Amino acid sequence: MTPWSWCCGSRSRDPRRSVAAGAPSISARHRYPNPVSPESTPLSLERLVTTVAVRLMAANAATSPQVSGEVLAVLVAYFDVDFSFLRYNDHSIRASILIAEWPLRPDVPDPDPLRVVYYKDADPVFALAENVKSPMVFRPENQDYQKRIEEGRNIPQTSMAAAPLTSGDVTTGVLGFVKIGDREWTPAELNALEAIASLFAQVQARVQAEERLRHQADHDDLTGLHNRRALIDHLESRLATDEPGPVAALYLDLDRLKTINDYLGHNVGDWFLRVIAERLRRGAEDARVIARLGGDEFVVIPSSPMTIPEAERLATRLLTIVGERVPVDGEMLTRSVSIGVALATPGRDSASDLLRRADQAVLEAKAAGGNQVAVFSDEMSLRTDYRNDIELHLRDVIENGALFLQYLPEVDMRTGDVLATEALVRWNHPTRGLLSPAVFISVAESINLAGDLGRWVLRTACEEFARWRALGVADGIVLRVNVSPVQLVTDGFVETVAAVMAEFGLDPGSVCLEITESVVVQDMEATSVTLAGLRDVGVKLAIDDFGTGFSVLSHLKSLPVDVLKIDRSFVAELGENPDDLAIVRAVIALAEAFELELVAEGVETVVAAKTLLHHGCHRAQGFLLSRPLAGSDMAALLAKGRVPVHFSATPSV
Ligand code: C2E
Ligand code: CA
Ligand code: CA
Repeated sequence: MTPWSWCCGSRSRDPRRSVAAGAPSISARHRYPNPVSPESTPLSLERLVTTVAVRLMAANAATSPQVSGEVLAVLVAYFDVDFSFLRYNDHSIRASILIAEWPLRPDVPDPDPLRVVYYKDADPVFALAENVKSPMVFRPENQDYQKRIEEGRNIPQTSMAAAPLTSGDVTTGVLGFVKIGDREWTPAELNALEAIASLFAQVQARVQAEERLRHQADHDDLTGLHNRRALIDHLESRLATDEPGPVAALYLDLDRLKTINDYLGHNVGDWFLRVIAERLRRGAEDARVIARLGGDEFVVIPSSPMTIPEAERLATRLLTIVGERVPVDGEMLTRSVSIGVALATPGRDSASDLLRRADQAVLEAKAAGGNQVAVFSDEMSLRTDYRNDIELHLRDVIENGALFLQYLPEVDMRTGDVLATEALVRWNHPTRGLLSPAVFISVAESINLAGDLGRWVLRTACEEFARWRALGVADGIVLRVNVSPVQLVTDGFVETVAAVMAEFGLDPGSVCLEITESVVVQDMEATSVTLAGLRDVGVKLAIDDFGTGFSVLSHLKSLPVDVLKIDRSFVAELGENPDDLAIVRAVIALAEAFELELVAEGVETVVAAKTLLHHGCHRAQGFLLSRPLAGSDMAALLAKGRVPVHFSATPSV
């Protein structure tokens, strides 16, 4: 092993070849002009150092290898050596990286096996560079060194000087000069080398600082993955006209990471995210960009064009890898992930088009229960357009009169007497016509309008109801108003209800608020506080859609409710479906046991009506009895007092 190994191969078995390939002949060396002194006057060492300093000052991250190479050329000529090299240390992987060399080797293989040399594989002389602190000189008369040279035959005698690049106590690299044959280095020359090495070290520090900044600007601190900005940059270049396509995006959203943060703390959450990031790196190794968009959202962009089935296969693989168990504090955690897949065509789609589609797909995957892959479809985009349009108009609709109420009578099926009326909101949309609350209530909830909308419904219904009262047509009638789950947990909801009762002079006992069962079950604690407050105000409470979430059963006793409304899905097929009958009978028994009023929803058929009557449920609403009515029609019906119930006369089934 010889100093050639520093520049020509740490494990070079044939030094002659190395010399032939790596170093020019003496005559070739003279073909490089000395850029420092075009005239024949030799430069002083001080001038040399100054010249190098001026040259290196101009170098930045992008130009430093080139500038360094040029400076090496100057130094090779000045010191009359055959070869020189600049290498940086990467202590994190214990390796030496070739940054520049002079002269260039004519046939550098790709990848250059000399670019990265691991110290554990390097020869002992080379290995000194890992931590050397002051210049070293190796000469043919150096015994140890010479012995090494003799180990390999036919190696020309060489000498070398090497000066470390340092930063504080750390050796950050090495600058080396090799001469075929012997060469003495004077103390003054070695001082100059030290000075020059420190100039190179300054460039190195500057370049690394610049690279760190660039890395920070493009990467996520927590996981080291790319960030949104890098993702967008990458997508923009991939989606330029004439680039190969389609370009696939996989949008990953961890399911319920929040629970980890809430229950195990943010450190665990962070650690968990790092594990996931590592798994993505492993699972999507052919991805050009893996980005974390903050929170628990990641995007993977495969490096080559992909069809939907290919992207879906990759997504399915990632779904499995990410979903594997993660050990945390001796416990095993798993968190499934939802993945949205979308494609974009270069020259036609933008980066944001692609991300929006993938995001929509992931929302669908989540909505369908998570832990699955969803592929973006045109139908999805129509749905989103629809939703966006609703969102756009809903903001001012509450003020501008496009909302109105219809009323659904609740009837005693034995007599046809109207007992109550349920207010149902509708929206006359400017372009889409009459919209059902099933469509826009969820949008209102998602954009924080449920409170405003609910207040409007409550006030409007109570105002109209008070008018009917004043007309004397609504005595003994109950007004039912639906309440959105979001309203229930809104501050001041109880006070609003009390204020509306007072404003219209209504007896609170004549108003009943309907709350869906699923909501009651989801957040028992918060809802029971609100329900207790409403009970104090004096309004009645109904559990709507009863039977869709049986878990409320265990709380029935403690909840201050007055009415159960059997969900219409059980009523619709009564008479045909024995399971439904069993459930309805169970609910009837339950209502009796807890002394609650019972109302059947969605009575559409005579057989359903008769079945209900037969089993003891006589309060009902549904299209068989009446369609939802405009306010004026409801007032007229109240004045009449009853709907026709021909079926009640015939014997029950
Ligand atoms: P819901 O509270 O279960 O209301 C009953 C729904 O069933 C109404 O639909 C009504 O028109 C419909 N319906 C009544 N009888 C029959 C029948 O025999 N057959 C069929 N197929 N349907 C029947 P609508 O008006 O579309 O309301 C849907 C849901 O929207 C309501 O379900 C309620 O949860 C919600 N909603 C309605 N108005 C409001 C409101 O003002 N605020 C809130 N937060 N939600 C409301
Ligand atoms: Ca209802
Ligand atoms: Ca219902």
